[in-house]
Amino acid sequence: SEAASLEKGFRGHDMLAPFTAGWQSNDLHPLLIDRSEGSYVYDINGKKYLDALAGLWCTALGGNEPRLVAAATEQLNKLPFYHSFWNRTTKPSLDLAKELLELFTAKKMGKVFFTNSGSEANDSQVKLVWYYNNALGRPNKKKFIARAKSYHGSTLISASLSGLPALHQKFDLPAPFVLHTDCPHYWRFHLPGETEEDFATRLANNLENLILKEGPDTIAAFIAEPVMGAGGVIPPPKTYFEKIQAVVKKYDILFIADEVITAFGRLGTMFGCDKYNIQPDLVSVAKALSSAYMPIGAIFVSPEISDVIHSQSNKLGTFSHGFTYSGHPVSCAVALEAVKIYKERNIVEKVQAISPRFQDGIRKFSESPIIGEIRGTGLILGTEFTDNKSPNDLFPSEWGVGAIFGAECEKHGMLVRVAGDSIMMSPPFIISPEEVDELISIYGEALKCTEERVAE
Ligand code: PLP
Repeated sequence: SEAASLEKGFRGHDMLAPFTAGWQSNDLHPLLIDRSEGSYVYDINGKKYLDALAGLWCTALGGNEPRLVAAATEQLNKLPFYHSFWNRTTKPSLDLAKELLELFTAKKMGKVFFTNSGSEANDSQVKLVWYYNNALGRPNKKKFIARAKSYHGSTLISASLSGLPALHQKFDLPAPFVLHTDCPHYWRFHLPGETEEDFATRLANNLENLILKEGPDTIAAFIAEPVMGAGGVIPPPKTYFEKIQAVVKKYDILFIADEVITAFGRLGTMFGCDKYNIQPDLVSVAKALSSAYMPIGAIFVSPEISDVIHSQSNKLGTFSHGFTYSGHPVSCAVALEAVKIYKERNIVEKVQAISPRFQDGIRKFSESPIIGEIRGTGLILGTEFTDNKSPNDLFPSEWGVGAIFGAECEKHGMLVRVAGDSIMMSPPFIISPEEVDELISIYGEALKCTEERVAE
């Protein structure tokens, strides 16, 4: 098609997609990203793009942070690898665990376990919760409740927890022990006349009814992202987490906060739990933990749970779980340096200071006839394209309105995430005011071009 050849033209290289290009596209001319600098990445032809998604919501400190490179190099020279099994580990992993336990203050946490990714973190949560319930002599308390439109990862279990149909269809997922409750998207799902608070009450009641129907003794844990990311950037409606937490507490169900996107400042608080007053039993982090310079994820475990797992009277014995690269010293050294930088540079205050310019600047476009809703908080934002300002008047999917907007952004020198007719942005925490202005200007240009294409 004309659009496709145009796209290949501006990508301007003849390379065919290698087998490693991922499963998401059949494009034989993928965008080849070559290097990065601050909030920008450059393709193989030297074209510059504002990286409005920070890689995949992760390069919080942007490209070329010399302290992260130095931390990796130093650790590679000193000790490139040792494992964390049995009674062995390395200093960077202990130092990082200590730092993370101090940093997370929404609820006191007792232990940290390291993984390589967010998916592994959430998989590990499931095994840990099962083990915990088995140790307490309640092996039937096994089911997990997640939410429609959530994203928790791509392994069998984390994809099961996710609430996106594309991750379930054709894979025989979700696994039978995973249930899904409502997506907390007020604009799309509220009833006529329902306030945000009423909507939150209805969702909490629905959750309670699901628990009662299944039997509270069969439900182990509830998992939620403080702000849904890949589902389209969906912040919770007012009073939502307060009401949901009251329900899960009532039935002795653990609360897992999936902070893989929201941790370390993205929402203008160190953690999403701080923003929404969530007191979780377990937390998953990854991405900004190392500013994505090295793969690493982690779970934080409350003392109540870690004490049971380590108790002498626990007859189950060792919690037999871990990965070769759990607590990888180079990943931990880089993450430790990233966390130091977040603290030293007051990254939370910085995100708070820059967010209004970003949020308000993009919201100026909300009158566009093709925009249904703009939503977000801090440095995360989603735009959903619909007709007539209505959540129900979707554009025909074959028009590919979101994809057109994404391609226009790319043409104008900016990278965003496209999912159907939603587009998402989560720029690096280090984005400058001038770069935010550039982001808004490119968004405006791309919107104008998309409006013209829709009107055709
Ligand atoms: N949880 C959330 C909220 C995520 O956004 C992601 C990835 O985008 C994951 C888990 C999975 O993390 P990973 O891709 O590192 O496995």
